[in-house]
Amino acid sequence: MTDCLFCKIASRAIPAALVHEDDQLVAFRDINPQAPTHVLIIPRRHISTLDELEADDDVTVGAMVRLAAAIAREEGFAAAGYRTVFNCNADGGQTVFHIHLHLLGGRPLTWPPG
Ligand code: 5GP
Ligand code: ZN
Repeated sequence: MTDCLFCKIASRAIPAALVHEDDQLVAFRDINPQAPTHVLIIPRRHISTLDELEADDDVTVGAMVRLAAAIAREEGFAAAGYRTVFNCNADGGQTVFHIHLHLLGGRPLTWPPG
């Protein structure tokens, strides 16, 4: 989608601190980190919200979750623990309408979230 911030990051039209990229996914550091490590994992293909996921997307979403776990291991906090979050729509706190998995780690995280 031409007018989507995360599509532009995926295509490198807008710079970001990339952590990983492959044919399917891109991972980059959040511009406003909420933990020592705060990475966003996105599919290259534009999907606006979780509400739009279809069965064909299962492989993509599974790969997003496994990439989060791999980055947590690389960043050294997999054993200590971390959080992954998908926000969906307004009440879920979604502000960028291209699905993204937040990976937060490097400090103890409280529960429940706000
Ligand atoms: P949401 O609130 O939609 O779940 O998360 C959107 C995230 O994108 C926020 O954590 C926000 O800080 C991050 N973000 C917004 N604009 C940019 C940007 O231009 N670059 C990067 N790296 N992160 C961004
Ligand atoms: Zn997009």
